[in-house]
Amino acid sequence: MQRPDVVPPPAAFAAQANVGPDVYAQAAADPFAFWAQQAGRLQWDRPWDQVFDDAQWPTARWFDGGRLNVAVNCVDRHVAAGHGDRVALHWEGEPGDRRTVTYAQLLADVSRLAHGLTELGVEAGDRVVLYLPVLVETVVATMACARIGAVVSLVFGGFSADALRFRVADTGAKLLIASDGQFRRGTAVGVKAAADEAVAGLAHVEHVLVVRRTGQDDVPWTAGRDVWWHELLERQPAHHEPASFDAEHPLFIVYTSGTTGRPKGLVHTTGGYLTHASWTHWALFDLEPDDVYWCQADLAWVTAHTYVLYGPLSNGATQVVYEGSPLTPHPGRHFEVIERYGVTTYYTAPTLVRTFMKHGPQLPAGYDLSSLRLLGSVGEAINPEAWRWLHEHVGGGRCPVVDTWWQSETGAAVVAPLPGVTALKPGSATVPLPGLSATVVDDAGTETPPGVEGNLVITAPWPGMARTVWGDHDRFVRSYWAPYAQQRWYLAGDSASKDDDGYIWIGGRIDDVLNISGHRLSSIELESALVAHPRVAEAAVVGAPDDITGQRIVAFVITRDDAGADDAGLAEELRAHVALRVGAVAKPREVVVVTDLPKTRSGKIMRRLMADLTAGRGGGDTTSLTDPAALDAVQDAWTAHR
Ligand code: ATP
Ligand code: MG
Repeated sequence: MQRPDVVPPPAAFAAQANVGPDVYAQAAADPFAFWAQQAGRLQWDRPWDQVFDDAQWPTARWFDGGRLNVAVNCVDRHVAAGHGDRVALHWEGEPGDRRTVTYAQLLADVSRLAHGLTELGVEAGDRVVLYLPVLVETVVATMACARIGAVVSLVFGGFSADALRFRVADTGAKLLIASDGQFRRGTAVGVKAAADEAVAGLAHVEHVLVVRRTGQDDVPWTAGRDVWWHELLERQPAHHEPASFDAEHPLFIVYTSGTTGRPKGLVHTTGGYLTHASWTHWALFDLEPDDVYWCQADLAWVTAHTYVLYGPLSNGATQVVYEGSPLTPHPGRHFEVIERYGVTTYYTAPTLVRTFMKHGPQLPAGYDLSSLRLLGSVGEAINPEAWRWLHEHVGGGRCPVVDTWWQSETGAAVVAPLPGVTALKPGSATVPLPGLSATVVDDAGTETPPGVEGNLVITAPWPGMARTVWGDHDRFVRSYWAPYAQQRWYLAGDSASKDDDGYIWIGGRIDDVLNISGHRLSSIELESALVAHPRVAEAAVVGAPDDITGQRIVAFVITRDDAGADDAGLAEELRAHVALRVGAVAKPREVVVVTDLPKTRSGKIMRRLMADLTAGRGGGDTTSLTDPAALDAVQDAWTAHR
């Protein structure tokens, strides 16, 4: 692939950055001392006895013996330091309603809900599931749970009753917090009925706490079980005395996106996780006191746990939280929000960037985006073409793009640049952060030579690492630790290669790696080549079984011109284009024009479902799919193509 450009940190940015170049060497010299120093950025009620303990490997223990309260770190201590009037949240609802919440106001609400949860019988260690849109109340609920030591699990508000039921049952939750309704692309729809369906017959659910959001007038109600949020809070005092919890006390359970199969509920704990979340948020996004930070992820995704909730709040950041769809009521909604609040830092996702690209550079050009000084990307590998578009048309060519590779399992960023230090290469998440070690190896554990695809592994423990899969510790060991048990390396499940400078290029999921006549090719590299063609808006590449070559490459593409469906020349044009950019072996044998691609709710392309299609298999887990119609359409296009 063509990877010519290196983008050094702008000098002015580097001169003022929070983190300077020495940090890599400092952390490498003694990673445990480095993380202990970062843990010192937090407020501890009791210091730890030991930074790291591997007696129960692969369940690690960090900062053992230490005690702290996450909510105190995220809210109280900023008020105590005299920043009570600082805006914590600029919240904007989908219909355009707005709320500004200071840290002092946040503290009052978190305290009230902490009392309220106790009134409802919730105790430390109990699970609380949140089935809410992106509301101020959602943030308050996560902090109130942390304050009393309850383990929170957020479920995307757009999930079905079935998907919710699985998570409520899996966690054995005592309390469900839901809303009366929610806005979906401009329309208010009821959700309480779905919440009721999800908890029906689950004896462990004692109460359903209901936030009034849309003012639905037909909210189904179960007397004795259901409680209105506003009525509960009204009767609680605004002061709450926090307890402190062990560094290894569970903080939340987050379910993976389900891109590769049934979602896993990863358990994250208190001290190590908060250390990793807090330091990386401060370093990656170069947080300054007058920044207005915006991570656009839904609160239910791990991205927002770490980089909306625990990271930014622990750092006392001022942030924007937006409830709705990025395209409602118009495709420029995000740019309008950036302009309105003077957003300085915008953390987004490749799927959204590609959507903006379809509308052309005139979309962002219609807004004043001059407040931006830093951009971020997460969720998938960002195609170099999309990186450059974001850099130029949204960031005005002046903002570093921080591409962060990480997972629900890693808790926080692992491979990502430091914006004032690391030279960027569009499409690469660059190198492991200070205090983290990752590399690319073959199945035997030998590092692959530059340019050769292998398995991405994390080779040393890190504080944000998940401790287990909730209720299925075997799956935790089997999925991540068994393959390189001897070396004690963590298998990420993603394929990658390193370049001559040691930069890591994520190539896709291990299961999605293509094997063509013995050549291992990365799905992302091929897709990026296709997306760089002027007629292609999006692409998904999968390997279909082939008697002669092992696999043959099938490319599903969405064209920019809508004219591609029966365009015989397009396939030939794209084959020639890929041959030129990647090599003749990478030429797609088949090109199928589609109008949509199956994606997870968090916007990731689900290649496995398309691979199943081309192999004539069915029955893959589709519970995380955004829109089943997209898969049906791909199926129809595939049938017509055959
Ligand atoms: P499941 O594990 O259930 O299949 P998932 O892996 O999609 O779901 P997440 O933990 O939300 O669930 O996503 C992490 C994955 O997202 C990574 O393993 C990687 O494949 C992809 N990813 C995230 N950020 C990046 C990035 N910056 N570059 C490349 N890939 C990324
Ligand atoms: Mg995963």
